[in-house]
Amino acid sequence: MTTTKATVTPMMAQYLEIKAAHPDALLFYRMGDFYEMFFDDAVAAAEALDIALTKRGKHDDNDIPMCGVPHHAAEGYFLTLIRKGFRVAVCEQMESPAEAKKRGYKAVVKREVVRLVTPGTLTEDSLLDARRHNFLAAYHVVRDEGALAWADISTGAFHVMPCAGAALGPELARLTPKEVIVVDGSEAGWAETVSDSGATLTTLGAAAFDSTAGEKRLCSLYKVGSLDAFGSFSRAEIAAMSAVAEYLEITQKGNLPLLRPPMREAQAAAMQIDAATRRSLELTHAMGGGRQGSLLHCIDRTVTAGGARLLERRLASPACNLSVIGDRLDSIAFLVEQGRLLEDVRTQLRSVHDLDRALSRIALDRGGPRDMAAIRNTLGQAAALSAILPDELPEILTTAAQDLTGHDDLLGLLDDALIAEPPLLSRDGGFIAPGYDPELDEARQLRDEGRSVIAGMQAQYVDLSGVSSLKIKHNNVLGYFIETTATHAEKMMAAPLSETFIHRQTTANQVRFTTVELSEIETKILNAGGRALEIEKRLYSSLSQAIVDQAGPLGALARALSEFDLAGAMAHLAVAENWTRPKVDDSRAFEIEGGRHPVVEAALQKDGAPFVANDCALTGAPIWLLTGPNMAGKSTFLRQNALLAILAQMGSFVPATAAHIGIVSQIFSRVGASDDLARGRSTFMVEMVETAAILNQADDRALVILDEIGRGTATYDGLSIAWATLEHLHDVNRCRALFATHYHEMSALSAKLDGVENATVAVKEWDGDVIFLHEVKRGTADRSYGVQVARLAGLPTVVVERAKVVLEALEKGEREGGGAQKAIIDDLPLFSATPDPAPVKEKASQVEGRLKEVLPDELTPKDALALIYELREML
Ligand code: ADP
Repeated sequence: MTTTKATVTPMMAQYLEIKAAHPDALLFYRMGDFYEMFFDDAVAAAEALDIALTKRGKHDDNDIPMCGVPHHAAEGYFLTLIRKGFRVAVCEQMESPAEAKKRGYKAVVKREVVRLVTPGTLTEDSLLDARRHNFLAAYHVVRDEGALAWADISTGAFHVMPCAGAALGPELARLTPKEVIVVDGSEAGWAETVSDSGATLTTLGAAAFDSTAGEKRLCSLYKVGSLDAFGSFSRAEIAAMSAVAEYLEITQKGNLPLLRPPMREAQAAAMQIDAATRRSLELTHAMGGGRQGSLLHCIDRTVTAGGARLLERRLASPACNLSVIGDRLDSIAFLVEQGRLLEDVRTQLRSVHDLDRALSRIALDRGGPRDMAAIRNTLGQAAALSAILPDELPEILTTAAQDLTGHDDLLGLLDDALIAEPPLLSRDGGFIAPGYDPELDEARQLRDEGRSVIAGMQAQYVDLSGVSSLKIKHNNVLGYFIETTATHAEKMMAAPLSETFIHRQTTANQVRFTTVELSEIETKILNAGGRALEIEKRLYSSLSQAIVDQAGPLGALARALSEFDLAGAMAHLAVAENWTRPKVDDSRAFEIEGGRHPVVEAALQKDGAPFVANDCALTGAPIWLLTGPNMAGKSTFLRQNALLAILAQMGSFVPATAAHIGIVSQIFSRVGASDDLARGRSTFMVEMVETAAILNQADDRALVILDEIGRGTATYDGLSIAWATLEHLHDVNRCRALFATHYHEMSALSAKLDGVENATVAVKEWDGDVIFLHEVKRGTADRSYGVQVARLAGLPTVVVERAKVVLEALEKGEREGGGAQKAIIDDLPLFSATPDPAPVKEKASQVEGRLKEVLPDELTPKDALALIYELREML
């Protein structure tokens, strides 16, 4: 965009200057009631938002592309743009046009970018999922030591941990941040890891990651002399935290959010679960990406947004520390026993608002009176909750109960100052309660008296003019005015009435007047109203300050409420779904009686079908080799045991009649690999990469779930790989494992390896069909019943019948050995429904012709798929 000065209007010059400072964001340039975009920004935004692209003026003799959105609807547009990978620079008018005119006839209204809207820095309720965190993360390596810091500016949470490069993927999978910051120049190394986690990658210059400057920046942010107050941090940790703080400063333009002091997380404290395992177990996100269908969705009984976010955090990082797990289980057990108290606690919590987010918005000056009322109501609710609690509580709840109280001063202040249901925004006033500020009361009284005087004037003017339909009205352009129909207007514009009534405006049907008296009173009302508004604004900032001053205790209160909500929700779930307290210790036990898969069980319940509970005992032999036909329930059984371990270690009761689990340090699950076309890897490659990761990483405390390893290749290859993998798990990793396979040959391994036991999912054959019993028992499956399952799936009868014949022949051939098998198959009668060969030939040559045109190297995966559809059409 090179330009010569002469052709540029002052406004465009201002635009170009601001745009130059934000080259990688769409500039939303405020003009009156609209945000407007120009040039390339307009083209990109019009397409992304599906709004009209128009033109405004010329630049270098070319039309300037332009599009715009109304400012009151901007939030929705921000969200669309962010989802499509843009960031937005919001440029506001910093003065009114009248103020600008005072500076000179041609002066352009002052404008500044007040905020950058990016995925990791949202605070608006409408843009956020109340039940999920919105993390912004930064990753940095200093002298081979990596660290990850992450913050949620909508709640103020701020964390940091050491994190080697190889661990970044799993940690991002756990936290699912929306945006990850790395240092300029290093992005190529992290792009894949970051995009795999679904986050946007952002870069910042090296200065933002400087640990010395960073320490100073963080000290001044927290107004402390040294960071030691919060713990001891490595250089890399300080650098990563500093980048988060710097980025917030850049995006919020100095209006820094309320960040709580950083909490350091130890890496080993949580059960290690890598990204592929999280995906396959559908812990917090279902395969499709949403919450629905995930374990999280299935077990969430929380009644507050803060409680829901705490549940997600806990489920994403189950603990490995026995006392942490024990304390959480104690809280749930206590509430399960105190059924009455449990329901009372949940009733109180239902009226609690999202304290963290209200507080953050107020600190960022993006809040309003309704956020203050939310805080007030929540403080009241906390006090009410505290009042119903017994003196004796388990440890976690005792600590939480202490944080519920001690907020009387702030509660009293907000109670006195605010009306019951204040408006969303402070802009128009009307939220301070009468009686709180005498000066405000006086101004409001003057304003209201003026209004009632005006109401009285209408009758007076009707008398004076003899026009009974005359009305006094108000609009934002004219203020108060007298309105009559055109028929009566002539009379009012003639003497003597014209001495009183001054003509203002004529519209299609109406004529509008004012009087000296009316405009005098209006001025009085305006003055008094303006003063009232001024006073309310002042009171609003002092209330804001009072709230922000209490950020620490309010944060502790929010945590306490979430803790109560989560314990209550898990207790409620345990009672409703008949879950039991697991025994978790540091043994190597894994004994489940009557275990169930909560998500599958819930899905079956909807159809009125029962879920068959199953035992699992890995204590004697740590590896179970599970065989059984497809659809019998192998995957369900495998996953259910992994989920039981995760639930137990997050400190929850479990869906089983009894469970004894020795701490599991890592969980690996590979269930049904799928093609990863985006990364250009085949099913088999993905499967092998993932299996390699398990064999290289699993320690003797790991729990490994492998389903149908080797399925993606030829039979003997697959069998050999599965075989060798199982041996490695048994001899080298020495971990607990559940291994499902359709290779019956592998059952022989249990005779060879002490630690391997055979199990199978029972089926019954009845009248040529299979009936799935879903019962897992020790032993091996006798057959795979593949043909019967295929029939259930609706394969045409001719194919099923033919398959049966081939199968019998193969089995017979196997028994007789040698070339017998081939001879038998060759001898078999062909399909009874054999297609006519002539059209087949013709079609074959069509398909061949089409295929010859194709240049495989130039096909994208999408093109290839389209081609397959096309070829199929030809058949
Ligand atoms: P497999 O891995 O053996 O092919 P799945 O685990 O995918 O089988 O289970 C197939 C279907 O069987 C599931 O979708 C579920 O509806 C049903 N199922 C599995 N386990 C059970 C069970 N224990 N009780 C009742 N139904 C089950």
